[in-house]
Amino acid sequence: MKKITIAIDGFSSTGKSTVAKQLAKKLGYVYVDTGAMYRAVTLYALKTDYISKNSFDVDGLVKALPQIKLRFVFSNDAGFAEMYLNDENVEREIRQMEVSEFVSLVAAVPQVREMLVAQQQEMGREKGIVMDGRDIGTVVFPDAELKVFMTASAEERAQRRFKELRERGEEVTYEDVLENVQKRDLLDTTREDSPLVKASDAKEIDNSHLTLEGQFEKILQLYNNAINN
Ligand code: C5P
Repeated sequence: MKKITIAIDGFSSTGKSTVAKQLAKKLGYVYVDTGAMYRAVTLYALKTDYISKNSFDVDGLVKALPQIKLRFVFSNDAGFAEMYLNDENVEREIRQMEVSEFVSLVAAVPQVREMLVAQQQEMGREKGIVMDGRDIGTVVFPDAELKVFMTASAEERAQRRFKELRERGEEVTYEDVLENVQKRDLLDTTREDSPLVKASDAKEIDNSHLTLEGQFEKILQLYNNAINN
């Protein structure tokens, strides 16, 4: 069976990872959540105080980059690969609001992107991969056979994320989550290096009013079209 590269990009909390995981499972492909990699570097920067509320020592972080070892390890319990930062499972920690608050600043640093993009390209060398992020169809795999761009209104996305965080026991308000989603949209679309933009050959899915099943059917259809081309 022919294997292809599938790039799924879009704004934060558009459900990219949900649909990417479903698709990878159905096709027997590897799934890579590139947001987890930017989040893990951010967690490292927070723990080492390269970044805090009042300052960001970009040079310090860039110098420390060779010390950051990232690894995905498949978890049977979770059913997907979890993120390890220097051999420690950080899958839960990287999803916390504190990391969300700083991640777009760290992701705007060109040297951080360069390091992570190289690792992502290596992971996808053999195809048979579903990768989600912001620049997968534009920078990481510009030749991907299938590119999907996911959108939904900021309010709908904040609502989903709010529910997810509350279910995990985080004390957050809907307003805080909405503000974070809007702030990240702005930073991600306006940064100089690899801004979030829809690739000209990407297929757009607005899932504001789609059920999970409806969304999955759509993407499966797109996959079938891509494989038959
Ligand atoms: O996908 P997720 O919301 O976890 O991504 C967290 C952040 O990481 C994004 O808001 C963005 O700033 C950054 N990111 C990126 N490029 C990617 C994936 C994520 O800049 N390919």
